Amino acid sequence: MNCDVIKDLIPLYIDECCSDESSKIVDEHIESCASCKRLMDEMKAPPEMAKAPEPPASFNRLSGWLASLMQATLMLGAFVLIAIGVALEASTPNGAMNSFWAFNVVVPSTGFLLSMANWCFLRQYKSRKSFSRFSLIITLGITLCVYAWSVFHYEIYNAIKLSEDTILFYGLGLLLTAVFCIVSGTLSNQYAKMLGKE
Ligand SMILES: [Zn+2]
Repeated sequence: MNCDVIKDLIPLYIDECCSDESSKIVDEHIESCASCKRLMDEMKAPPEMAKAPEPPASFNRLSGWLASLMQATLMLGAFVLIAIGVALEASTPNGAMNSFWAFNVVVPSTGFLLSMANWCFLRQYKSRKSFSRFSLIITLGITLCVYAWSVFHYEIYNAIKLSEDTILFYGLGLLLTAVFCIVSGTLSNQYAKMLGKE
């Protein structure tokens, strides 16, 4: 029997739509023909799933829960730092150390805490990368704005005559700002990943 004829019969054979006579012919042919046998096996196999299996829903829920926990922990951490900074600043007598804790702890922590509000708008971003980059920029931007406001609030422009001491005086704050920017960029990326953002 010609292979082409058998190939035409195979779909009917699989669907059990051909006559007993035809079935018998197909059976006999594939006994001795490897290529038709292979075709038959391929057509019998269930179609392969195009998509990878979905992760179980419990995993997504856990991951979303962990993302919220991370966000809450960061916000609480920033809040605690602000409280500590305010307490230290309040207990500092007027003098050379005035505004030291405000600038070095309260300002960067406040900038970071305020920037965390942006994390609620994750859905607005087209990608995880843009969200992460913007989180870093917004942390820096808000912190610099709070610094600018503090300069007026503490009337630093009158106090600062000490040029090279200034960097040393506010160095800790600048360092903390840099740390918060890195934390914001890195952890916002992780946060977005946990919530399934591509
Ligand atoms: Zn054949």
